[in-house]
Amino acid sequence: MIDRAADSSRSFETDSDMAADSPVSDGRMLKAVGFAAKHSFSNLKRFEFERQPAQPNEVEIQVLFCGVCHSDIHQVKNEWSNTVYPCLPGHEIVGRITRTGAAVTQHRVGDLVGVGCMIDSCGACGPCQAGDENYCEGPNSWLATYNGPMIPAAKAPGEVNTYGRDNTYGGYANNLVVKERFLLKIPPALRPEVAAPILCAGATTYSPLKHWGVKAGHKVGILGFGGLGHLACKIAKALGAEVTVFTHTKEKLEEASGFGIAAVLEKDTEAMQRLASSFDFILSTIPEKHDINPFIELLKRDCTLCVVGALEPLAPVNNMQVAFHRKAVAGSLIANLADTQEVLDFCAKHEIGPDIELINIEEVNDAYDKVEKGDVRFRYVINMASLEAPE
Ligand code: NDP
Repeated sequence: MIDRAADSSRSFETDSDMAADSPVSDGRMLKAVGFAAKHSFSNLKRFEFERQPAQPNEVEIQVLFCGVCHSDIHQVKNEWSNTVYPCLPGHEIVGRITRTGAAVTQHRVGDLVGVGCMIDSCGACGPCQAGDENYCEGPNSWLATYNGPMIPAAKAPGEVNTYGRDNTYGGYANNLVVKERFLLKIPPALRPEVAAPILCAGATTYSPLKHWGVKAGHKVGILGFGGLGHLACKIAKALGAEVTVFTHTKEKLEEASGFGIAAVLEKDTEAMQRLASSFDFILSTIPEKHDINPFIELLKRDCTLCVVGALEPLAPVNNMQVAFHRKAVAGSLIANLADTQEVLDFCAKHEIGPDIELINIEEVNDAYDKVEKGDVRFRYVINMASLEAPE
């Protein structure tokens, strides 16, 4: 049991409702500021709080850039019914180390590093021992970069709280404190702002492409041409696959051809029929409940459709389609640390990365609206230099 307080002392400087939770400074805490939501229907607002300074095996980071993932929006709006407020999102983080704990050996002050969705895991369970921290079977599962443990104490066996905290504050902030083991190295060939979305969007799509053995000559389908989807297309293409993206947005047909990728409108039934039984692997990045049955028909025998987008019940699957040619429907959750490092290095080597739009932190609420409307090409990244230092 770690006897460590949460990132708990906090205040919404611009919000009188939260003023009662004013910072409690004991002189040792790290002052921090970010943008957080206090409940499911509020905008993100400036929020001052304090973090525990780096322990011996941790580093302190100045956050430089943070990607805006659709998961941030689901979480802020409590669409998974598990949000802990205040909710300070951000899990596609690139920053520079400003201080290292005494036991840190692999990183130095000044290093450019990345932090993805996880900042801790139990380290002792089967998946952790096998290097699959993202499937940690410890009592609280892994500790998310924001929103606390994946299994909160209230739902853990014996209500245990192994990480000693209920909430964590993520990367829409000026700083972060992270265990050395959960840091990723940013290859020099990647611009830091371009590297940021690879830490989640890239890792989440690379991991299943790797797991299901996508290779040169394979035909791969990607559902949804958004943040995850466009990066999945680039990665699959760099793996040598023949890629088709399925979109519900007509304008994206032409945009896909600019990427050298075939595109099909989801409702184009004739095109869908022509593609029947032709795909080796299909990855769905669509962010909500959808019907995957038309896409199961596109798989070859013994092939898999993996859903990473909708983390909720899907429309019922017609198992006749699945059984008939021994097809499989699967899911996948982010990526382990090794695969996250691998995809950063892969993108650097193949000179690929997300198409990004840099924004200032004050624009983040507007950016959320645009992501929900599909009005982004293709990933917003917040330039954290736009966030004024805490007072
Ligand atoms: P984006 O909003 O950037 O992209 C989603 C794309 O899906 C859209 O651009 C759109 O593409 C398509 N789409 C189809 N139907 C809808 C709809 N009703 N509303 C909005 N988009 C729709 O999202 P991200 O790529 O950032 O994230 C995709 C999903 O993946 C999210 O639900 C996120 O939570 C989840 N996720 C899951 C992870 C995991 O570990 N499994 C990790 C990270 C994210 P088009 O216009 O081409 O149809």
